[in-house]
Amino acid sequence: MTNEQKQCLLRYLGYYDDDVDGIWGANSKSATKSFQHDNGLNETGNFDTNTKNKILAHIAGGTGFKKTASSSTKNGWWKEIKHFTRDEFKCKCGGAHCKGFPVEPQEKLVRVLDEIRKNLGGAATVTSGVRCTRHNANVGGVSNSRHLSGKAADFRVVGKTANQILAEAQKHPEVRYAYKIDSKHVHIDIA
Ligand SMILES: [Zn+2]
Ligand SMILES: [Zn+2]
Repeated sequence: MTNEQKQCLLRYLGYYDDDVDGIWGANSKSATKSFQHDNGLNETGNFDTNTKNKILAHIAGGTGFKKTASSSTKNGWWKEIKHFTRDEFKCKCGGAHCKGFPVEPQEKLVRVLDEIRKNLGGAATVTSGVRCTRHNANVGGVSNSRHLSGKAADFRVVGKTANQILAEAQKHPEVRYAYKIDSKHVHIDIA
């Protein structure tokens, strides 16, 4: 099977949305990984025999389509979140380098942020949620930043100082790490 064919199959099932160019780069590998993840296969990113057989079986049976983010938004835990929408966590590159969600914001992060916001009682703004690799580099993020895996958010709360936000954030054991970015903004991340 050629790389183009592999990309076409992954694309058909909704795992790959880049060009079918035969170049087996990061996007092809991560599409493969994500397929492997959803199908209980070893997450190697290599289009091995097991992966190929599983894909072909899905294609023959008309199954195995990737669950889209929008359907998980409608049906999932987001509806239990009171103070934030998924859109607020969008990568701030504005579509220059990604389509907004190279990764989904993690449920645990959003839930704890919602809790912090509730306890502080002021309107909150997410100034940086998920980031694509290029945007992260552009804003000076470290290369292993948790913003890249949907596990970090920078935010502010109207009427609260960063110290007040930080003190609240540190009460939550889900928060792995929290720090002040400046006098108003705080970064939190989860494990
Ligand atoms: Zn981006
Ligand atoms: Zn941050």
